[in-house]
Amino acid sequence: MIFLLTPFIYITTIWTLLKEKKVLKTGRSLNSKEKEIGEILKINDLTKIRILAVSEITHPLSWVFSFLSLFTKSILSAPVGLTLGNAILVEKKHETNLHLIAHELVHVKQYEDLGGHIPFLKKYIYQCLKYGYKNSPLEMEAEEFSNNLFNQGLV
Ligand SMILES: [Zn+2]
Repeated sequence: MIFLLTPFIYITTIWTLLKEKKVLKTGRSLNSKEKEIGEILKINDLTKIRILAVSEITHPLSWVFSFLSLFTKSILSAPVGLTLGNAILVEKKHETNLHLIAHELVHVKQYEDLGGHIPFLKKYIYQCLKYGYKNSPLEMEAEEFSNNLFNQGLV
């Protein structure tokens, strides 16, 4: 399994780095509300983060999701947000969705804490395969944080 996944993780990492570079050039910086959320998370440098709204999110992880859908009953829908290091992609209709952006900012923090793209993607992909997308600890952490903010009326 690991043998099969390793080249896939490197391909995904290359795609992620290239896409991140593009989004960092064209995306917008965080607004004050989003910065506040970033401060709660203690993200290192909030000025480096960029958000780009796109009509559709496509990514190499689609392969993982399609693979997972063979084993899970629920059909996994295309993501509405995707974080690539300091770059956050969101679907156009969710551009101002603070709940979603809070979730994605947790992933920015996870990239930071784990030490970059390769360690994050390795852990993320393994967890998705082991526990399923929704039950993977990295996803659950992001969902729990954004739900807590929502319950406090902050997003
Ligand atoms: Zn997520």
